[in-house]
Amino acid sequence: MRNTAVDPKELAFQKECIEKIRKLNSAKKQMPKACVITYGCQQNENDSERIKGMLCSMGYELSETREECDVIIFNTCAVRENAEMKLKGNVGALKYLKAKRKDVIIGVCGCMVQQKEVAEILHSKFRHVELIFGTHAIYKFPQLLLEAKKSSVMDVEDCDGYIVEDIPVRHDDKYKAWVSVMYGCNNFCTYCVVPYVRGRERSRTFENVIAEITRLAEDGYKEVTLLGQNVNSYGKDLEDGKTFAQLLRAVNEIDGIERIRFATSHPKDISDELIDAMAECKKVCPQLHLPVQAGSNKVLKDMNRSYTREKYLETIKKVREKIPNIALSTDIIVGFPTETVEDFKETVSLVKEVRYDSMFTFIYSRRRGTKAATMDFVLSEEQIQKNFDELLEVQNKISREINETYAGKTVEIFVDGYSKNDPETLQGRTPENKIVNFKGDSSLIGKIINIKISEVRTWSLNGELE
Ligand code: SAH
Ligand code: SF4
Repeated sequence: MRNTAVDPKELAFQKECIEKIRKLNSAKKQMPKACVITYGCQQNENDSERIKGMLCSMGYELSETREECDVIIFNTCAVRENAEMKLKGNVGALKYLKAKRKDVIIGVCGCMVQQKEVAEILHSKFRHVELIFGTHAIYKFPQLLLEAKKSSVMDVEDCDGYIVEDIPVRHDDKYKAWVSVMYGCNNFCTYCVVPYVRGRERSRTFENVIAEITRLAEDGYKEVTLLGQNVNSYGKDLEDGKTFAQLLRAVNEIDGIERIRFATSHPKDISDELIDAMAECKKVCPQLHLPVQAGSNKVLKDMNRSYTREKYLETIKKVREKIPNIALSTDIIVGFPTETVEDFKETVSLVKEVRYDSMFTFIYSRRRGTKAATMDFVLSEEQIQKNFDELLEVQNKISREINETYAGKTVEIFVDGYSKNDPETLQGRTPENKIVNFKGDSSLIGKIINIKISEVRTWSLNGELE
């Protein structure tokens, strides 16, 4: 078993740094402010909650307004090029702020800067960014922030990765929480940068995960989403032989937790034991995100996905037999270098056969250092865009048809809060993760209630209180 622990002396040092900054901040007339801007996946959201937790312990007040902040941190994503472009635009736009207020600290952390060459380019092109740290250095944030107050710092050391348990967390929500159960990825799909920027697979111990969720339940949290790049790999690196299915069963026993979700599962590792646990645990929501990526066996092989179309469909069949009301979602990449029009048609036929409730569709983005980056493209950009649009159209129709089956039905929803688009409307989710909008009182937030569906849309449902 690989040692994933950080030297306790180093952790004690981080605590000293937190204390030092807290003292500096408490001597100020006004409480200083900080913000963390997050790009990318739920794992990044969870990392940002830790950075926010450390900032709060250091005496910063969190703010949404960048201009009034003393510390601004961008937590980045490297999965596709457009995430990098967006980041550069937003960081570049803050140059004026640094010129106006010299003591502001602008930091960039996470997956994008875990790639050393990218970090170096950012460092040389954006001199107003004085703090750069990769995914493996997040726990060192207090020390790095203290150093950045004197001169610019960069920590993007490449390693297999650690597990650090004692970082303070500031959850974004009061009733729903992300809980990382494992980190890293060993799969090396040929298009993907994640294994290079997140390190090797490593699982938190059963006891630590259960203790965290028990504490969350005591604090009033009702829903948890267990996170990992490949949650089915949970436990493979642990000595006690615990599996993800066993973890689900244990979380299901925790009083106060009412809904359990998880993401993401790799189709090659989904076990009968896991499907049984999902079917038998009442609190585990009937929802499964199972990224297929492509429908052609040739492309799946070139992607190094380690399953075939037939094997994937067999898994879906098994899941549906045991959990008939399961809502399925997937990720698909359109325009992988070796994908032909014929291969793409197989993706469309798979999507029509499975009939996913929802789908995340991406145009392939070349990532430096990955195996696919050296492959030549078969299709033109125009053809890839055309295929992408076609796939969206196919899926929109299916999503709409599935949503139509909810018309007039009463569903049980967990009320999240007000809708982003309409501050008068409340929003919640069904166990299948369908978004439901309805008019109601703010006292309903955080409660599980019944709503009768009165109107169906492609991506959401509208309803009324029963
Ligand atoms: N670990 C998860 C997903 C990680 S990335 C899993 O294996 O399912 C999330 C999604 O981004 C992937 O499922 C894939 O569809 C997409 N993605 C990853 N690399 C990409 C790339 N180079 N170009 C386009 N999409 C990509
Ligand atoms: Fe990337 Fe594949 Fe790992 Fe998912 S399983 S993070 S797609 S390498």
